[in-house]
Amino acid sequence: MERMNHSGADVLVAQIDQAMTGLAELLAEPALAHFESIHPAFEALEKVFARKAGLDAAFAWAADMNEAGLKVGSSRSTDYLMQRLDISRAEATARLRRGKALYDPPVEPEPEPDDDPVADDDATRAAAREKAERERKAQAAARGREAAGEKRAVIDEELRNLSPHATPGFNELLDRALEFAQSNAVGVVRHWLREQVRLANRSVSRLHESNRAFNRRYVSLSEPDEHGGVRLSGYLPADMAAALSEALNPARSNILDGTALKTTEGMSMGKKRAHLLTAMCRNFLNDKTLNLKGIGSIVVSMTLDELENMRVDDVFPTNTGHLLDPFALIRLGEARSDGFVIHAQDGQPLHAGTGKRTAGVMQRIALFASELVCSHPDCDRPMSECQAHHLIPAARGGPTSISNLTWLCWGHHRDNNDDRDPVSPFGWADRDEESGRVGHRRRAGAPVMVNGTPAARRSGAAKVRARRGEASVV
Ligand SMILES: [Zn+2]
Repeated sequence: MERMNHSGADVLVAQIDQAMTGLAELLAEPALAHFESIHPAFEALEKVFARKAGLDAAFAWAADMNEAGLKVGSSRSTDYLMQRLDISRAEATARLRRGKALYDPPVEPEPEPDDDPVADDDATRAAAREKAERERKAQAAARGREAAGEKRAVIDEELRNLSPHATPGFNELLDRALEFAQSNAVGVVRHWLREQVRLANRSVSRLHESNRAFNRRYVSLSEPDEHGGVRLSGYLPADMAAALSEALNPARSNILDGTALKTTEGMSMGKKRAHLLTAMCRNFLNDKTLNLKGIGSIVVSMTLDELENMRVDDVFPTNTGHLLDPFALIRLGEARSDGFVIHAQDGQPLHAGTGKRTAGVMQRIALFASELVCSHPDCDRPMSECQAHHLIPAARGGPTSISNLTWLCWGHHRDNNDDRDPVSPFGWADRDEESGRVGHRRRAGAPVMVNGTPAARRSGAAKVRARRGEASVV
């Protein structure tokens, strides 16, 4: 059984060889060939040969499994394929990649760390398991699909843009694409698959990625052990971790006068923290208004330049040593006691104060976050696909400051009527004086229409606006 390939393969290939010789003879003089009688056979031949691409992938994978590179004095299977099959490096690499896609066990992109024992993420894990199962099934189905090398090359190319976290996953889309390719032309396959990849990638927006740590937050207490003690464990995103570690900073113990902390000399840091935590809990529980003001103060340091050119993946240092991303900043803004220090280019503090006094800073951050997507109404292009646009063109003296900038996707940027020409059919990006929000004005005097897509509503700024009742921005 296991050697059948070996013993039978040479006979089968000899048959193909013989058949090819026969076909070549039929077309030795193409001018004399009787086209009407041979064309159905040659159309069928093309279909038969479409199956070779699948064999090529399987063979490349088998070669890799068997360290075929050693046959040509190399550690790489591609060298074997190039030399013995007389194909280009690109073709060898493509065959090997297809073989791996079809026969390697599907990779599970992000195994959950095992220090996360809480049921909080059950739904996420169930969804991941379900996706992995679909991927396995799709991969098995994809092995049986027939598509010619040309279509496979197009599928490879388009699938390269698929995020490893996208849903549906790689194998599912590969299987669907191979099936689609059976009854559609190469160009149609490309366009169809490009759209499928775009839709699948939308399930992993940058916003979602940035909120991963926040989504995993939890604190748990173990069952009491034989002495009645419990273990604390949990996972906190950077901003929550900053708040907790500052609150548990033993150097600040004087704020808790009147508690057992007066007699902490000689205690370990861990023990002091335990006292601080308990004292804070008592204060918290004794305070009917649950007013947490003054318990901690987190200072974020950033330059004006960093603030104005903030990007989704930026992080900013804090006095607690935690690095906060812009999303964490938005959440921090909800705690009035936290402070921000803005530094000018030369390092001089420009602005320092509590959350309340730095409302301007929060509004700037909010503006940044409001533009996680293109600011054109009903557009959901993420910021990563957008260009910065001057509301008042730089050529007309518009400053490159956050108040004069917005994000527009390529299409909406191109269509923007920069000169505000009344004859043009296009409108322009503009700020609504009343709400302070940037949107699109169809013509002079028309209202500014803002982006109300779900993607825009998910932004931290939308939450900030909801809390402040649409306060003006910068
Ligand atoms: Zn747009």
